[in-house]
Parts: sequence; structure tokens; C-alpha cells
Amino acid sequence: SAAVLDTAGATPMMAQYIEIKAANTDCLLFYRMGDFYELFFEDAEIASRALGIVLTKRGKHGGADIPMCGVPVERADDYLSRLIALGHRVAVCAQTEDPAEAKKRGPKSVVRREVVRLVTPGTITEDRLLDPARANILLAIGRIRIGAGKTEADQVYGLAALDISTGRFALSEVPGPELASAIARHEPREIVLSETIHADPALARLWREIPAPVTPLAQAELEPAAAERRIKAQFGVSTLDGFGQFGRAEIAAAGAALLYIERTQIGVRPTLSPPVREASGATLAIDASTRANLELTRTLSGERRGSLLDAIDRTVSASGARLLAEHLAGPLTNLDAIRRRHAAVAWLAEQGVSRKAFREILARAPDLARALSRLGLGRGGPRDLAALRDGLDAAQALASHLAALDALPDDLATLGKRLKKVDAALVAHLRAALADDLPLKRTDGGFVREGYSPEIDECRLLGQDSRKVIAALQARYAEETACRTLRIKHNNMLGYYIEVPQAVGETCLKGVMRETFIHRQTMVDAMRFTSVELGDLEGRISGATDRALALETAVFDGLCGEVLAQAAAIAEVADALAALDVAASHADLAVERDWRRPVVDDGYGFTVTGGRHPVVEAALRLSGEPFIANDCDLSGEGRGRIRLITGPNMGGKSTFLRQNALIAVLAQIGAFVPAASARLGLVDRLFSRVGAADDLARGQSTFMVEMVETAAILNQATRRSLVILDEIGRGTATFDGLSIAWACLEHLHEKNACRALFATHFHELTALGERLSHLDNATLKVAEHKGTVVFLHEVVPGVADRSYGLQVARLAGLPPGVIARAGAILKNLEKSERDRPNRPRIDDLPLFAALSAPPMEETPPDREDGLRLVLDGIDPDTLTPREALDALYRLKAAR
Ligand code: ADP
Repeated sequence: SAAVLDTAGATPMMAQYIEIKAANTDCLLFYRMGDFYELFFEDAEIASRALGIVLTKRGKHGGADIPMCGVPVERADDYLSRLIALGHRVAVCAQTEDPAEAKKRGPKSVVRREVVRLVTPGTITEDRLLDPARANILLAIGRIRIGAGKTEADQVYGLAALDISTGRFALSEVPGPELASAIARHEPREIVLSETIHADPALARLWREIPAPVTPLAQAELEPAAAERRIKAQFGVSTLDGFGQFGRAEIAAAGAALLYIERTQIGVRPTLSPPVREASGATLAIDASTRANLELTRTLSGERRGSLLDAIDRTVSASGARLLAEHLAGPLTNLDAIRRRHAAVAWLAEQGVSRKAFREILARAPDLARALSRLGLGRGGPRDLAALRDGLDAAQALASHLAALDALPDDLATLGKRLKKVDAALVAHLRAALADDLPLKRTDGGFVREGYSPEIDECRLLGQDSRKVIAALQARYAEETACRTLRIKHNNMLGYYIEVPQAVGETCLKGVMRETFIHRQTMVDAMRFTSVELGDLEGRISGATDRALALETAVFDGLCGEVLAQAAAIAEVADALAALDVAASHADLAVERDWRRPVVDDGYGFTVTGGRHPVVEAALRLSGEPFIANDCDLSGEGRGRIRLITGPNMGGKSTFLRQNALIAVLAQIGAFVPAASARLGLVDRLFSRVGAADDLARGQSTFMVEMVETAAILNQATRRSLVILDEIGRGTATFDGLSIAWACLEHLHEKNACRALFATHFHELTALGERLSHLDNATLKVAEHKGTVVFLHEVVPGVADRSYGLQVARLAGLPPGVIARAGAILKNLEKSERDRPNRPRIDDLPLFAALSAPPMEETPPDREDGLRLVLDGIDPDTLTPREALDALYRLKAAR
């Protein structure tokens, strides 16, 4: 960003600014001046544009005006959040000494300032900067080489996913080829890694395409020994053995994450949960494009609304919503864990009364994890303590509720135990200490409950008393000066002062009050005085308030200490609350929508009856239309493992493909599914290549992207995988496309042997059903009525007999003239096809055949047919007089 400026000739303050800025060139610098954070030079220009605030100037540098803009400290969070959302990083520079101290050093000396924190997308903790329903992941990446070569297969990557706003810290290891899908799963807000990984040409495209800022760190700072030291220091241990076995790549990643935290948090160490290790393969692998295509957590246009997550989210707490999103991003592959989740949902679905009670309690439980994290970073306030009080209180209520129930499924029984992890005395203490109405900031004071500390109460009384004394003093002075408008007021400059109108003031200066009143200020129409008595009182008042505040601060720090001493237990309670919320959310949805408990086993089956697409169904419900449920069997028992689906556009192919993928995802996150029944063998990887979506934004040809993604599928799909392919080979010339689709289908069938749904426009492919034993054809049923089509959205065995392209085109509102003309061309084409009995079958392709169709404007070779074609293309009812005349000329020309 900004070039480093020269300090020569700068004012002392500007010189300080330039020096600090030079050490933080990659950030916007928020430079504290009084009640404002000021930005200068290029930073000011960027911020004023981004925030829509006025750009002014302050002094000169090198002969030119210095651009400046500022934001009030009070409202800095708002501005910060907007800058962060735009991808900026901000260095917050505070005054780190009392201005009075600076003055002592000399009249020209500047207040000492230091950068106290870097605010970056991946390291924020403030509620107003965070999305309550989303984790805020900083992802650090390390790697080690395991093979002799230099390809991705010779590398192992370690990932450290750290959410500083909740203290969650998860480590995992992935082989090189799976790096991209592992990153996609975490949806990181920010990525840090070594310069070496960043500069690796094989990964250049990955970094370019990731929608989060990627920050390289110097290799020298990431030595293995330093990484280990950082982890030990963070968790206060002398060996890492207690955490389990971590790989070297994971340690490298964890070290990088902690280094970056040190760098941005400057001097404060966050409270992090001990690192959890996620075994490789513990979650269903879903690559970035599959996630996007299936719109798991956001739609293709990037919104949460309309995504699967949005359709199934019935959670009532922010932490529940975050956990649900996390589950959806990483469905399980462990059969036991999946079944335990199903059992919990089933129990909650049956126990309507308990579920309702649980959800009511959960709904009033504040966000424990985020409050805890802020307290740990020293950024917490009284309301965070209250959040802990209420959250832990809710946990206790739930725990006793659960304890009173028997025959609980495992997961709920474990949950009940975890909810009790925190010492009840802590809640009691918080309840006793905190007042009902709490200020936002600890420095505002007044948050300790009356009666909790006799000392604090005494100081407060003193303060209140003094205020009464002041009122009395004001009354007395008013009488003595015979001025009814005399007031005793307070401001930050003067403290307490006596204010009278100008004329009265003049008299006071000369008259009887001369001895009592000491002149402080003369205003346009008023005069301000103080008195010895008032000065004394002021001393007493501010002494009492200061003392009360000091005492309150001590109470705060004490409570904070108690809370942080139980941080690990609190984090566990927070997790348990979230897990209960998620399970209850699934149960609620299942009951309301009649979703069913899926059976997941370690076989390779896939049998869904009465399956629905949760998002499309919800959309149709709004318009009062029914969703047509469809079965899907890919078990390969009797019928095929691969289903080839042909059928008209708009028939419902994509919906059917996606709904089955979504059912697998839902089953493996432990939810019930939108189907009458579902039995599926565990899926290890889910792939989807759907539609020739708008990949243009990525600057690559659609066809290239399609082929890259298809290659990934063919190379990685195992017998356990589920593959959804829609319209492979469309992005190229027909022969190419058909051959590619054909060969891919054969490969999936013979080599991958996975379960797959394959939708295509190439009707030729349906002939493969006879050659490939595990391939079945299916199509979407259509009814024709007086030349128009009705899509029944019903998946039936067999092959589409026609593509109904013209009917769809008419529905889409193509001009009638064009429809009629296309109809004529089609008839002609079909006729000439019939007249050539021995043509190769591949010529069936409508696209290919169309190349030999007579173009619109040229005279067709056969005059008779030409006339007929032109005539067929005329729809007299729609012609303007001018068009009718043109048509006549065309007929004449075709003769
Ligand atoms: P295709 O992929 O065959 O072009 P889509 O799957 O995009 O068709 O479906 C087109 C539209 O048809 C959808 O937007 C939806 O409104 C409707 N639709 C699809 N499947 C169903 C169904 N099973 N029941 C009811 N309507 C459906």
C-alpha cells in the first residue's frame, strides 16, 4: 500500500505518525487523537472513499496538503466492520501515556502512541463485527514433504482452523490433492501460510480463487522449534504429548496460526481450547465446486437465503446456528457417530414436550463462547459476564431437566453431563455480584449489585450525598447573589463551576461575593466561577467516584479471573448447548415436515423412496404447488449403480440429481431426511458437476473448468463415493462432447464403480444401457396436451422420446415467428433423417444435424421445400403490415 514517507521537515507528531505507518504498510492506520481515530495521506483517501466520510486536510508535508479523515472513537466499531468487510486490515494506534506526562518532557513533545492491535478479518472478536451465525475462521496452513518428488501427491498439508471469537482450535492433516476441498470446508475468513507455500506455482490458482485474503509469513519465523515453543506457551504445557499425536505439518500450521495471533493481538493471549485433532477422512470430502453447486451453506450468488443451511436451520441460539453450519460443511463418515446423532434426533422428535422446553431455555442462553473469548482477551465488559451468568444458568436448568429423564440416548446423556461441567458456585457468584442494568463498558462503572460490597455502596452514597450538598450550595449561592438563574454545572474542562449571567458576574467580581467567588471564565453572556467550598466538594465527589470505580474494577477482574480459571469447562458447556440446539432443530424440522430417520450402514447401497428437494419444495410450498416426490435406487442390486437421466429441460433433472446428493449430506450430518425412507451406504466423497455455470468470472473457459472438475471426479471417486454429473461435454462441439461424456460414463462404470446420477442431453448415450450392466436409464415424465407440454416431474425408467425443446422455448416466450420457423426446420430435418436409412447413429444429435439445416436467410436448394418452409414460418395473426409485405417479397424470392 502507501509508500514510506520521509520524516524530514515533518512536525514531531507527523514524524511519529510516519514512523508508525512505516511499520504497518499493509494496514490502514487508525491514529488516535483525542476522541477520534484519524487517518492520513493515502489511508485517508481510501477510508473516506470506502466509508463515505469527509476528506479534509491537516497541515502540509513536503509542501503539499496532508489529506485527513477521522472516525469518532465511540463509533469506531461500525467503521471497522465496514472496512474489514471490504477486505482491509486496520492497525489501531492508541495513546499509551497520559498527555500530561508528555507535557512534562517539554512543550513540543508528542504523546507516546503504539499500535495495540491489528484488526483483520480472521481475528476479530467484537460482536458488532461478527456474524453471530457463522464461525470466524483463521486458517493456517503448513506442509511437509513425504514423497521424493515435487508433485502435490508428495506433500502433506497441516491445517489449523482457529476461531479466536470462540476459542475453537482444530488441527487436521490432508494429502496434497485434497488441500483445496479441505480449505473449502472451513470457509476461512483469512488464510496465513509460509512464503514458500504461497509462492508454490502449483498452488497459485488455488490462492487466486479463494475468496479470503491470503497472508504469507516469513519462512524464518516458522521453524519447527519455534512452532512447538509457541504451542507450549499458548497452552502452558511443557510437552505436547498430552494433546495426542500431532503430525509435523499440523504443528507447523498451529505455529503459524499462533504467530499470526501474536502479531495481530499484540501482547494479549487469547483463551483457546486445547487443539482438537480431526483424523483425516473423518468428514465427507466435498470439493469447493460441489459445495457451491449444491448450495450447501450459501447459494451460487453467495447468499445464505435459499441455501440448504437456510432451509434446515431451526436453531434458536447463535452458537447452535454456527455448529449447524459447521456440521453441514463437514458431514461425518463415522458410522457410530452418525447413528448416535440420529438416535438423539429421534428421541427429541418423539418427546415434543421436552423438546419445546429445551428450546425455550436455549433461546434465552446468550453466546457463551464469544463472551468468554472477549473476556480472555481483556476486551470484555460487564455484559459479557452477564452472558456467562445467564448461559451457565440455562445450562444448569437443561442439565437438571435431562437428569430427570431416563432412557436417554447416548448423545443426550453425555450432553447432560457436559452441561454440568462448570462449578455452580461461579453462577451464584456472578448472580450476586452483577447489577440488573449493566453498562456496556467496565469503565462506566455501576455494574456491581447494591449490597454486594459494603465499600462500594459507601462510596456511592458519598457520591450521592455530595450531589445533594451541591444542590444545597447552589441554593445558598443563588440567595447570596440574589440571582435565581445561578447554576452549579460540570464539564470536563473546568470540573464543577458556578455560572451566572454576565451582568450578575460583573457585580460578583466587585461586590460582596468578591471574597468567595474565584473567576474562571467569561463567556459571551455568562461568567463562570469556582469557590474553595466547591473545590473541596468536587475533590470529595471525584474521590468517591474514582474509588468506587477502582473497587468495581477489582470486582470485575476478580470475576473475570474466576471465569477464566474455568474457561475449559465453560467452553465444553458452550459446545454442549450448541449440540443440543442442533439436535433439537433437526427434530423440530423432522416433525413439522415429516422427514424420516435414514438408515446409514457400511454397505454401498442407496435407496431413497419418496425423496424431495428441501429447498425447491419449500419454494413451491410458498406458491401452493405440490412437490413431486421421487424414488432413487443406486444400490446396484437388480438395478443399476449409475442412473442415466434424459428428459426435457425444465423436467426436473437437476432438482432430482441435487436432492439425492442433499439427502446423503443430511443423513451424514445426523439429520433426518426429506424422504419417505432412505437407506444408504456411507459416502466417503461427494462430487457434483452441475450445469455449465457462470465460470466466466474466473477467467477460464467454461469448458476448461468443466474438464478440470470432471478430471478430479474421475481421478478421485472411489466405490464409496457419490457422483452427480449434469450435462458433461456440453461446452464443446457435439462430437467432442458426446465422446467425452461417453468415455466418462464408461470410466465411472468400470473404474470408479461408484454410485452416480448422470443427466445428459446426448440421447445417444442411452444405448449404453444395453452394454453396461450397472447402468440404467431414467427419464422425466411429460404429458402433451394440444401441442403444449406439462412437466409431471416424475422420474420413470426409460428414455425420453423427445426433447420438447420447442415447447419449452414457447413457454419461455420466444417470439411465435421464431417458434414456427424452428418447427418447420425441425420437421424438415426429421424428414431428411428418415430418408437416410443407413446413417451412423451418432447423427441423431440435434445440434450436429442442425449444422446441415438450411440457414434462415439463404434460399434453400429445393425450391418446393423452400416455399413451404417460408410459408410455414409465417403466422399471419402476428404480422404487422410491414412484415406482411416483407414476407411477400421473401415468398417471391424463394420461388
Ligand atoms: P431440468 O434440470 O430438467 O432443466 P430443473 O430440475 O431445473 O429441470 O427443474 C425445473 C423446475 O421444475 C424447477 O425450478 C421446479 O420449479 C420444478 N420442479 C423440478 N422438480 C420438481 C418436482 N419433483 N416437483 C415439482 N416441481 C419440480
